[in-house]
Amino acid sequence: MDYYRECLRSALLGILVACGGCGGSSERRAEAPQPQAAVGAKPASEPPAVSESESQAPKKSEADAPKREWRRSLADLLQQTDEESRAEGEAPFAAPPLPDIDESRLAAAGIRKLEGTHLTLYTDLPPQPAIDELPQVFDLAVPQWSAYFGVDPEDTEDWRLRGYLMERKEPFAATGLLPGDLPPFLHGFNRGHEVWLYEQPSDYYRRHLLLHEGVHGFMKSHLGDAGPPWYMEGMAELLGTHRWEDGMLTLGWFPQTREEAPMWGRVKIVQDDFAANRGLSLGKVFEMGPQAHLELAPYGWSWAAAAFFDGHSRTREAFRSLKEHVHRDEPEFSARLRESLAAEWPKVMEEWQLFVANIDYGYDLARAAVVYGPGSPLPPEGTTITLAADRGWQSSGVEVEEGRSYTISASGRYTVAQTPQPWWCEPNGVTIRYHDGLPLGMLLGTVRAEGFTDGSVSAFLNPGAIGLGRTIRAPATGVLYFRINDSPAELADNGGALTIHIH
Ligand SMILES: [Zn+2]
Repeated sequence: MDYYRECLRSALLGILVACGGCGGSSERRAEAPQPQAAVGAKPASEPPAVSESESQAPKKSEADAPKREWRRSLADLLQQTDEESRAEGEAPFAAPPLPDIDESRLAAAGIRKLEGTHLTLYTDLPPQPAIDELPQVFDLAVPQWSAYFGVDPEDTEDWRLRGYLMERKEPFAATGLLPGDLPPFLHGFNRGHEVWLYEQPSDYYRRHLLLHEGVHGFMKSHLGDAGPPWYMEGMAELLGTHRWEDGMLTLGWFPQTREEAPMWGRVKIVQDDFAANRGLSLGKVFEMGPQAHLELAPYGWSWAAAAFFDGHSRTREAFRSLKEHVHRDEPEFSARLRESLAAEWPKVMEEWQLFVANIDYGYDLARAAVVYGPGSPLPPEGTTITLAADRGWQSSGVEVEEGRSYTISASGRYTVAQTPQPWWCEPNGVTIRYHDGLPLGMLLGTVRAEGFTDGSVSAFLNPGAIGLGRTIRAPATGVLYFRINDSPAELADNGGALTIHIH
């Protein structure tokens, strides 16, 4: 709904928006929240009747009004009508009825119809398996969305979207399936129970786009709203990013390789932005306004945030409970997430930084999660610890003092890869392969001081090479952490442990 208002505002301001980027990037949802009386036979061509609904509806109390500070002027008025309709006890979302279609004209225009349980898809593309199976893919997605959002499957039995997959716009415009009041878009657009999709250059990305728009439609229909932009687009990205193999659909899939998701590009967005010093803190992601997603990059960041929160055991539960609060917008919505994680929040911010700095296909959030732990001063005789080879940073339990010297020695045989056979490794690493400029498997260390804040740079981003042994002068007072040098996407095939002695 919010996006509809923004589109309408843009249109009224005479701003032609060149919706950017790949895919999910260009849709702005247009579920019209107006009172039913304002809905004509062709809802797609009738924007909400602002003045009418304003005059008809009672005011909602200020105390209940969500804060939507970044919206102004007409957008505010449109929001008001939405809140007013809720105050009247209407369902928060009421999609306009689908327009009638003169099926007889479609065949002549070269448009065929593919029918599923939850999706009717009209397309001018010739028959081919990757197109014709789309309703089947969509039907497999619906129960997964229901499960994710805790929606009773019975409530989705009659839920249907109508999709238009267009190789050429003209046949759809000529038959009324592409109404003239849609804002310009490059790839996909969802309004009410309809989605418009342009043909994409990869089977993966075509499916992704359909699922992305489907998530928007599902959330609006079954949750009544979709939250602020980062969450709304993040969820559509999270639950649109998939694996489709042998008739099995897996949603919320973290692509393991670039080849798995041709033209998707979300990982690359974050990598490139980070490399160009445009990395975003979580706070900046939360602040994305309704116009942010007219560009491509915010889709990468929204996906990354959702994938991080949903994939990390520290944040998963709090993140998933946000679905209860999709009527709230920034800053209330994200404040709720912060508050529910409370004391954990500095770690969340730090691990986000680590994730962004090292993001890659197959990033293993579970294994790369920092094993935090308090430290105590080193006893006079020193101490010996064990370090798992298949995890990211792990606390040594030793607190070092700034300026004091410590000698670290390490031993052990462990594996850092399994193909074509186990790669055995010792703490100096293997020199036949490098990661981040150092031998794969080499022991690394860092000192983490307490007090991570939004402006901090994590000590985990600046590790030092330890190898078989080294004397270090502690750069700060803090806990000594270790890991072996490996990609966070390739921890699962490691095995064994190192023994580290600190004195
Ligand atoms: Zn979207």
